[in-house]
Amino acid sequence: MPQSVLIIGAGIIGASLAFRLSRQGATVTVLEATSPASAASGRSFGWINASFYESPAHHHLRVEAMTAHHRLAALLPDTAPNWQGTLWFEAEGAGFEQKATDLAALGYPTKPIARAEIAKLEPHLANPPAQALHIATEGAVDTAALTRALLAASGAKVLSGIAAKSLIENGGQIKGARTAIGPFTADHTVLAAGIATPTLLTPLGLDLPMLIRPGIMVYTKPVGWRVNHILVTPDQEMRQDTSGAILAPGIVNHQADASDSIADPAAMAEATLRRLRARFNAPDLTLDRFALGYRPVPADGLPLIGTVQPGLSLAVMHSGITLSALAGEALAAEIMGQGDHPLLADFRPSRLLKPL
Ligand SMILES: Cc1cc2nc3c(=O)[nH]c(=O)nc-3n(C[C@H](O)[C@H](O)[C@H](O)COP(=O)(O)OP(=O)(O)OC[C@H]3O[C@@H](n4cnc5c(N)ncnc54)[C@H](O)[C@@H]3O)c2cc1C
Repeated sequence: MPQSVLIIGAGIIGASLAFRLSRQGATVTVLEATSPASAASGRSFGWINASFYESPAHHHLRVEAMTAHHRLAALLPDTAPNWQGTLWFEAEGAGFEQKATDLAALGYPTKPIARAEIAKLEPHLANPPAQALHIATEGAVDTAALTRALLAASGAKVLSGIAAKSLIENGGQIKGARTAIGPFTADHTVLAAGIATPTLLTPLGLDLPMLIRPGIMVYTKPVGWRVNHILVTPDQEMRQDTSGAILAPGIVNHQADASDSIADPAAMAEATLRRLRARFNAPDLTLDRFALGYRPVPADGLPLIGTVQPGLSLAVMHSGITLSALAGEALAAEIMGQGDHPLLADFRPSRLLKPL
């Protein structure tokens, strides 16, 4: 069982893992190239859900991850998610019926509701749709705040501005990482470096194919009226944070789109703002800021969590906000010698990792 663990990357995945490993008695060091939550985890929509999924096993993992967030919130109540529920009306007609049927077949609790009820739940929607799925169990979290809270509560040594340059390998065993200020050795090393993960694997002769998936997050100035749910509309997803600002990814169906470039983020932010104004009939809605982020998406869209070789694990995934609480718990338990976690069986790095 490792006494010391080195985590490379202080996004929400590295932070969640640091928190759980520390609670199990490991001495944890986190190397972060810039600052915690400065990459995808600070530019995320923060929706915790299982209504988006790629396969039944992926859906099940996400459902368990939602439960893991409740366990985590009991330990960190100040950064608990807001379980405000989702109103899903991204598709109409046959697409809507299909989504409702698929989620019902998986046993996921959803309730179709009609226009009058939608209008009651969301009085500021300009044109409530004919129907929506009300998914009362879903929520959203302030991802940067949760990342920082996990790191603080972990008691881990977090070194910001220190990038891992390469891994230290000795007889097939990984022993830590080299940095500009010298080597950091540990019994076990974990790559939680998001889109930078493949770069650190290349010198080991391993290829990790990932998609290039940029996205922008648009934040409005706070408004004095409420958006009560996470809204999944044909235009885009949107929600309101505790400051009253409305957040929206700049691309329709941000978790499933296949875009690999964003030519003009400012124009995309303006277009998003126009759609939000129309959705809420709020011409005075103003842009506060937007941020460009890159989603860490393994080539087949599914998470990768587990052992790479002796002394080395990785955790790289999209929907990392949803999955973070469970990924941290499950991988920490495995690293600390508690055996293979059954929920991770379909999501092992060996699925995609190939020799170069
Ligand atoms: C626009 C957008 C919207 C999203 N919406 C959602 C959503 O609603 N729900 C959801 O579940 N997911 C969502 N996601 C995905 C989610 O944000 C990511 O899956 C998650 O943040 C990944 O966390 P991570 O810790 O793996 O990676 P990151 O947050 O990218 O963190 C990796 C960290 O590693 C550091 N690093 C890299 N290389 C090195 C190195 N060599 N040495 C040291 N440190 C290094 C980086 O600086 C970075 O801080 C969204 C993503 C985007 C971009």
